[in-house]
Amino acid sequence: MPMATTREIVLASGNAGKLAEFRTLFDDAGWQLRPQSGFNVPDAEETGQTFIENAILKARHAARLTGLPALADDSGLCVDALGGAPGLHSARYSGTHGDHAANIDKLLKAMAGVPDARRGARFVCVLALLRHADDPQPLIAEGLWEGRIQHARSGEGGFGYDPVFFVPEHGMSAAELPAEVKHRSSHRARAMALLAQRLAAL
Ligand code: IMP
Repeated sequence: MPMATTREIVLASGNAGKLAEFRTLFDDAGWQLRPQSGFNVPDAEETGQTFIENAILKARHAARLTGLPALADDSGLCVDALGGAPGLHSARYSGTHGDHAANIDKLLKAMAGVPDARRGARFVCVLALLRHADDPQPLIAEGLWEGRIQHARSGEGGFGYDPVFFVPEHGMSAAELPAEVKHRSSHRARAMALLAQRLAAL
């Protein structure tokens, strides 16, 4: 099915940083990315049990209410020793949405006594692009960033769980990495690179 001729895509997120990041990708591919707030689209209920389900739910909601193709993302941290937690609850692991310090405290407590060999974890980012609300074949791109959970915080950069996420390929935490290195190698960067390939093939 061809993309809508308007060449507009709505982003199912109110996050200005994400809009800027994704805009670069879509500009290059020749589409205008517009935030859902510009269409008064309220946030969708994230009732899925996986990142993919939630990304699709959010994109479908925005596509339904705007009549435009829609892109949504969902991301979080999955820790092997915790059965994938905090997972979908990454932003509100400690109970308060976006309280990164408390989220890290809870994670370090849950991981106390877990040996290095069992501290594997990954950041996950799923992007879903629906050409229209009833699109049965959404474009899906998943980016993974493998690492492990440190025993304590290090570094001042990044956000969220970055101070306790050790990146083996760089030998430091994600919060110690220069921002441009993180933006090149992160789960989001990987998902965006995959989506760019798929967009080019549309
Ligand atoms: P969102 O879906 O991108 O808003 O991410 C949900 C939550 O996952 C954030 O609030 C963070 O706790 C965590 N998260 C996602 N990406 C990152 C990252 O790059 N670094 C650290 N934490 C992240």
